[in-house]
Amino acid sequence: MTGKELFKKAVFYEILQGLGLTFKHMLFGKTMTEQYPREKPSLPDGWRGAIVQLRYDDGSEKCVGCALCEAACPSHCITVESAEREDMPQKRYSKRYTLDMTRCVFCGFCVQACPVTALASSKEYELATTDKRELIMEMDDLLKLGDKYFPIREKRPQYTEDRFNFFKQNKASGFPVAHVPVVNVPIAKKGAA
Ligand code: SF4
Ligand code: SF4
Repeated sequence: MTGKELFKKAVFYEILQGLGLTFKHMLFGKTMTEQYPREKPSLPDGWRGAIVQLRYDDGSEKCVGCALCEAACPSHCITVESAEREDMPQKRYSKRYTLDMTRCVFCGFCVQACPVTALASSKEYELATTDKRELIMEMDDLLKLGDKYFPIREKRPQYTEDRFNFFKQNKASGFPVAHVPVVNVPIAKKGAA
């Protein structure tokens, strides 16, 4: 062993070298650590956080209770109970919509499956809680999150308005009934040629 190597061992040269680098970055370098939770990280646009429900511009919920999201969810964390709207026959809605966020893997399959774009991935990531029951979210919770992250709402489609107006106009006077003419078809007798 040479004298230089012996000296390096005696003064713990590698440790001093490492500490020198640390102090150099500490005193003169750019700080890379994010001071969370005081500083919030900036998330990319494609971030898939908590799933939320969206509304149309008139405040009505977009969900039509078709349960395609339930079928698409690989974690089986969505439960949809749908019913027909009393004020608009043939139009359905989610009577009860539950999303168990404790089982969600944020894959976004439900968002892709929804035919009316009623679901979206938000940038909500602060889901820590001491009570897991708070993470079993109902429609109102999901709509509130949707209002928070998607304040600009899509205009309600005109065809929905037309159907709604048609129903309102005809509700009092009675709906038109289709009169199908009754045609008497002669029944062929047995043995007839
Ligand atoms: S993001 Fe994936 S796991 Fe979560 S509710 Fe949607 S389909 Fe299910
Ligand atoms: S969120 Fe979309 S896919 Fe799910 S039940 Fe409602 S309309 Fe259907």
